[in-house]
Amino acid sequence: MKTFNYHSAKDVKEASKLASHNSAFLAGGMTTLPSMKLGLASYKDIIDIKRIKKLSGIKVTSKTVTIGAITKHVEVANSKEIKKAIPSLTALADGIGDPQVRNRGTIGGSIANNDPAADYPAACIALNAMIITNNRKIIAENFFRGMFETCLKKTEIIEAIEFEIPQKSSYQKLPNPASRYAVVGVYVAKHKSGVNVSITGAKSCVYNDKDLAQALKNNFSSSAVDNVKISSSGMNSDIHASANYRANMVKAFAKKAVDAC
Ligand SMILES: Cc1cc2nc3c(=O)[nH]c(=O)nc-3n(C[C@H](O)[C@H](O)[C@H](O)COP(=O)(O)OP(=O)(O)OC[C@H]3O[C@@H](n4cnc5c(N)ncnc54)[C@H](O)[C@@H]3O)c2cc1C
Repeated sequence: MKTFNYHSAKDVKEASKLASHNSAFLAGGMTTLPSMKLGLASYKDIIDIKRIKKLSGIKVTSKTVTIGAITKHVEVANSKEIKKAIPSLTALADGIGDPQVRNRGTIGGSIANNDPAADYPAACIALNAMIITNNRKIIAENFFRGMFETCLKKTEIIEAIEFEIPQKSSYQKLPNPASRYAVVGVYVAKHKSGVNVSITGAKSCVYNDKDLAQALKNNFSSSAVDNVKISSSGMNSDIHASANYRANMVKAFAKKAVDAC
C-alpha cells in the first residue's frame, strides 16, 4: 500500500495552492484511484475537489451550455435543460461506461485525463467548447495536446466547460464491449459558422477531421462523406481493431452521425 496525504480543499485557491508535480486532484476518482491501486501512478498529495461548490452546476442560455467541472456524467445525462439545448450531449453522457462510472465520473476529470478513447473530448471539439480554468479560458482545439496530455499546468484547475449550442448535432460511437470507451467515436456538429467532425478513439488524441468538415459544410448529407478519403495512417492498431478497420469505422460512423442529426 502506497501512502499519500489526503486534503479536502474548501475552495479553488486552496486546491491550486496544494498542487505540485507530485499531486492529483480527486474529482470522481474513476481514473486516479484505479491507477494508484494498479501501481500505474503514485502521488504524494491527493487533493479532493468534490466539495468545492464553484465547480458544480449547469447553466443554459440561448447560445451556450456551461457545465461545472465536478458535474457527474449521470447529471449531464439526466439534465432536461441540456437535452433541450444539445440532445447529443446528454446522449453522449448516457453512453459513458456503466451506471457506477456515470455516478462517480466527472466531465472535468474526463477532459483533464484526455484518454484517447474518451467521449467528452470529442464533444468539446465539435461544440467549439471553451475550457474555463482558474487562470484562463482555453479553446478546446488548443487544450488537447496528445495521448493523456493537455495544456493544463499542474496547479491549474478546470472550473467549467462552456459549449456552443449547434444548429444540429449527433455523436455516434462503436463502443468497446467491456468498458464502453470508444473504439471509434464521431461527433458531427453543424454551427452557423461551419461544421465540425471530431473523432475520438481512432488516433492517439482527439482531432477535428477538416476534410470531413469541409465536405459537410458544402453538402450536409451522408453522401458527401462517401467522397472523402479517410487514411488509416497514424491510426491506432490494437487488439480491439486494426488501423484500417478504424479508418472504415470513421467513415461509417460519420455517415451515421449525419443521418441522425
Ligand atoms: C470501467 C470504466 C469505464 C469507463 N468508460 C468510459 C467511457 O465509455 N467513455 C468515457 O469517455 N470515459 C469512460 N471512463 C472514464 C470516466 O468516465 C471518467 O470520467 C474518467 O475516468 C475520469 O474520472 P474522474 O472524473 O473520476 O476524475 P479523477 O479520476 O478524479 O481524475 C482524473 C485526472 O483528472 C485530473 N482532474 C480531475 N478534475 C480536474 C479538474 N477539475 N481540473 C484539473 N484536473 C482535474 C486529476 O488530477 C487526475 O489527473 C471509464 C472509466 C472506467 C473506470
